[in-house]
Amino acid sequence: MLYLVGTPIGNMGDISSRAVEVLSSVDYIACEDTRVTGILLKNLGIEDRKLISYHEHNKASKGQELIALLKQGLDVAQVSDAGMPAISDPGEDLVKLCIEEEVEFSVVPGPVAAITALVLSGFSTRYYHYEGFLPNSGSERKKRLAELTGYNETIVLYEAPHRLKKLVSELQSVGFGSSRAAFCRELTKKYEEVIRMTIDEAVSYYEKSEPRGEYVVCLEPAVKTAPVFDDEYIDSEIRRLREQGNSVKQIAQILSDDTGFNKKEMYSRAVNLLKS
Ligand code: SAM
Repeated sequence: MLYLVGTPIGNMGDISSRAVEVLSSVDYIACEDTRVTGILLKNLGIEDRKLISYHEHNKASKGQELIALLKQGLDVAQVSDAGMPAISDPGEDLVKLCIEEEVEFSVVPGPVAAITALVLSGFSTRYYHYEGFLPNSGSERKKRLAELTGYNETIVLYEAPHRLKKLVSELQSVGFGSSRAAFCRELTKKYEEVIRMTIDEAVSYYEKSEPRGEYVVCLEPAVKTAPVFDDEYIDSEIRRLREQGNSVKQIAQILSDDTGFNKKEMYSRAVNLLKS
């Protein structure tokens, strides 16, 4: 049986008694970094466990190895360096592999930085989007940032401290400037801190204060400014709707529905504009 075991995101007191029980009894523990997990196990007084390295760069080959052990009837626990496996950490592929290979698996839940920050943020916890890390590369990152402006839920981001300033200025440029954000730092640790401010304010704040430690950024949706229904807007909408292949009648109907203006008025405006 495979157990995906949650471990602390900072405070060692957050390990559950079931996690300790499972880590003490399994045949192998698959972990990202044997040194990091070694420290955890030492703290728990169970440093004699057999560790197998399983991380982002060897997960394809090691995944098969772990499945072979599980098929022999051995018990394996998988942990990440911190928090829940499979959450912006290896584990997702192992779960998929277990399903494909019909190997039993279970989860021993533990802390997740994203959920801890979401609760601390004070933003909507009912509707939220977990983004984790944005793509690293330029164009993919830009595309994803732009897509995020269309979300209507609380957005939860992970970011490394040395990239936080860049993230904040990117968020400002795509339209999150007036959105409120909660910068949740060093969660469950001695210097835990939550700073709430708009993204515009955060740009100036992080100009003066160097980000340190681990961060989760919770973000309210981008503030969408309602369009002003002036002549320029109506004319551009008529042209846009025409390009999409709508008839003048359809354009008049859509514009009247969207703006509340009289349908006949919209119809004659569209006729005049499109014949010129
Ligand atoms: N699996 C982990 C989880 O369940 O949250 C996430 C691992 S991910 C590789 C590491 C990122 O999580 C960090 O860069 C940071 O954004 C966030 N993180 C982890 N621990 C944190 C903490 N104590 N305080 C704030 N953010 C944390």
